[in-house]
Amino acid sequence: MFFTSKTMKLNINDAVAYLTFNKLDEISSIKHAFSTRLGGVSCGEFKSMNMSFNRGDKEENVVENYKRLCCAVGVNFEDLVASAQDHHTFVRRVTSKEKGVGIYKPRDMESVDALVTNERKVALVTYFADCTPLLFVDPSAKAIGAAHAGWRGTVGRIGAETVRKMREEFSSNPKNIIAAIGPAINKCCYEVDEPVAQKFKELNLDDSKFVFPKENGKYMIDLIETNRQILMSAGIPSENIYISDICTRCNCDLVWSHRATGGKRGGMCAVLQLA
Ligand SMILES: [Zn+2]
Repeated sequence: MFFTSKTMKLNINDAVAYLTFNKLDEISSIKHAFSTRLGGVSCGEFKSMNMSFNRGDKEENVVENYKRLCCAVGVNFEDLVASAQDHHTFVRRVTSKEKGVGIYKPRDMESVDALVTNERKVALVTYFADCTPLLFVDPSAKAIGAAHAGWRGTVGRIGAETVRKMREEFSSNPKNIIAAIGPAINKCCYEVDEPVAQKFKELNLDDSKFVFPKENGKYMIDLIETNRQILMSAGIPSENIYISDICTRCNCDLVWSHRATGGKRGGMCAVLQLA
């Protein structure tokens, strides 16, 4: 498989392939991973590492996929806690009491698209497949966050909402926060119609860098750059923001892409915990 990235590494452990940021690997107080399509037990359109419970795959297969990913990454399956994610911008603080929610306990977090915690061994899980995963680490306040930023979450500034919640709950100073923008559909492949492009223009950011009109009346959008600017507007220094250069659609044999599969697909997850 052809794979190249300047900022991320492909790790393979017991046939489970997952991505990590080189710069986050240097932070010993956390563990993190982005799953791929490889190394799971799911079949058919979910083959093989599907982390989505709500797309029609067998639940026992998804659970087994989580167990295999956890084993490869060195995270306890029992410590996982997942958001529900329906493209809103609510951020919830979770503790060890919520362990298992959304994975082996029922979801009680409707409309939650981002999670934050300052407890060790609480592994935050978010899902995606073209949408933008955002990870946050504040080594000073010893706190972390994880958010799912689709286009709605992005224009709802969920990245800034997550920073706001970390300030409120953990007295995080945004200057200390390290953020990572994970694999997502890039500007090479993310075409939208006028009404969606308009929402991006209304953000009051430098949209000349993320809204690109095309001759056919549609627009190419750079979700990564939009989220980068939103994180900077929330006070995170640009040198603290690490960016994945992996387009999910261009690399759809390695990672899940909603657009590349026409929606017949599994999903990936990002996992982040304080070690
Ligand atoms: Zn692409």
